[in-house]
Amino acid sequence: MGYFGEGQDITFDGPVFPTRGGTVEGVLSALDEVYRMDADPIHGHVMLYATTLMEGHPATDVCRRAYAKYMKKNMIAREIAPGLQRLEQEVKRMAIELLGLPDGTRVNITSGGSESLYCGINAAYQWAKDVKPDITEPEIVIPYSMHAAFSKWCHYTGIKITRVKLRPDYRADVTAMEQAITPNTIMIAGSAPCWPYGLYDPIEEIAALAEKRGIWMHVDACIGGYQAAFVEKLGVKLPNWRIGRIPGVCSMSADLHKHAYAAKPLSTVFFKNKELQKYHWFHPADWPSGPYATEALMGSFPASSVASAWAVMKFLGEEGYLELAKATLDARKRYVDGINSVEGMRCWDTDLCVLVFETGPLDTLAVMAGLFERQSFVFPIYQPMLIQLAVDPVSVEVTETFVRTLRDVAQGVREGKITSEPLMKLM
Ligand SMILES: *Cc1c(COP(=O)(O)O)cnc(C)c1O
Repeated sequence: MGYFGEGQDITFDGPVFPTRGGTVEGVLSALDEVYRMDADPIHGHVMLYATTLMEGHPATDVCRRAYAKYMKKNMIAREIAPGLQRLEQEVKRMAIELLGLPDGTRVNITSGGSESLYCGINAAYQWAKDVKPDITEPEIVIPYSMHAAFSKWCHYTGIKITRVKLRPDYRADVTAMEQAITPNTIMIAGSAPCWPYGLYDPIEEIAALAEKRGIWMHVDACIGGYQAAFVEKLGVKLPNWRIGRIPGVCSMSADLHKHAYAAKPLSTVFFKNKELQKYHWFHPADWPSGPYATEALMGSFPASSVASAWAVMKFLGEEGYLELAKATLDARKRYVDGINSVEGMRCWDTDLCVLVFETGPLDTLAVMAGLFERQSFVFPIYQPMLIQLAVDPVSVEVTETFVRTLRDVAQGVREGKITSEPLMKLM
C-alpha cells in the first residue's frame, strides 16, 4: 500500500495556513492551479470522472448551479424547512418512477453506494434481532465479486462475512451460496451488476433462496440501477434485477451520483415496504439535545447534492436520460471495438457499461502503468488480471484518444519500453 491505506505523512517545507487572508482573485487563481494538476477530462475521464457527465454537457451546468445555490443548506434541518422537504420528496418520488418501482417501495437518501450498503446490512441486522432473536453471531453470505463495502461494514460491526466462490462465468454460484448458509445467516445478496466484472448475478435465484431459507436479501444496483432502467427501455434485454418485482428482495442500493448524474455524494437505498424500512430507523434521544432524527448514517448532510439531483432529473427528464443511455451504449461499442482491435487485447462480454479486458500475452500491470503515465486512468482487477473501466456517455474524441493510447502503450510494452515499475510505487 502506498498513498492509499496507511494514512498520509504530510510534510511541507513551511507553514501552509496563512497568517493574513488572501484576496478572492488570489485564492481562486491559486485554486485553479491546483485544479489543473489533475488529468484533463479527455485523457483522465475514465477514472477521475467515472460515472459522471462531462464538462460541456448542459446538465453539468444545471447541476453545478443547483449545487452552488444550496451550498449553505443542511439536509438535517429539513423538518423545519418546507423547501428541503419538497426537494427530498420529489427526488425520492422521481427515483421510484424512473426505476419503475411499485408504489409502496420505500426509499432513504444516503451519501453513496457504501452508505446505502451499510443501511441495507444494518436493516437486515436489526430485522434479524427482531425475528430471529436466537442468533447472537450473525453472518452474511455473498458472492466473491460483491463490493468491498460489505467487508468494511462487517469489519466495523463484527458481523461475520462469507464470500462464496463464483461460477466459471464469474456470476454468483447460488448452489455454493446455499451450502455456505448456516443457522446464523441473516442475509444474502447479489449485484446488478457487480463492480469488478460488470456482470449481473442471478438475482431471481438468490432471492428465491433467501425466501426459501427465510433470510434478508439485498440487491446491489449501485452502478447499474439508474442506467439499467433506461438501457432496458432502449430494448436491451437485462436479467430481472428490481426490488418490488422479485418477491424475495428486501432492500436495494442504487447510486444517484453515478448514472443519475447528480453531484457526489448521493445515493438511494430502497426497502420493499414500510415494514422492512422500519428496521432502518434509529433516533436516539438519550443525550442533552433530545430527539435526533437522521435519514442514514450521516448527521449533517449537504442539501447541495440533493438539489443537484433534483435539478438534473428535472432538466433531463426521461428523454434526456434515454439519450444519455444511448450515448453510453454507443461509447461502449466504440471502446469494445477499439480495444478488441489492439493486438492481444480482448474485452469480456459484460452486461451493462462496466468493461473489462484481458491484455493477452502482455503484462497487464505494465499496460496499466503505461496508461497511467499517459493520464488514461483505469482500474486493475486482480482475479483474474484484467483492466476495467466504467463507460460514461463520452464523445468520440475521448474513446478514440483512449484506444490510440492503448495501442501505443501495447507497442511500448511489447518492445520492453514500458514496465509495471511506476505503478508498483503506487500500490
Ligand atoms: C460504486 C459502487 C459501490 C460503492 O459506492 P460508493 O458510492 O463509491 O460508496 C458499491 N457497489 C457497487 C456495485 C458500485 O459500483
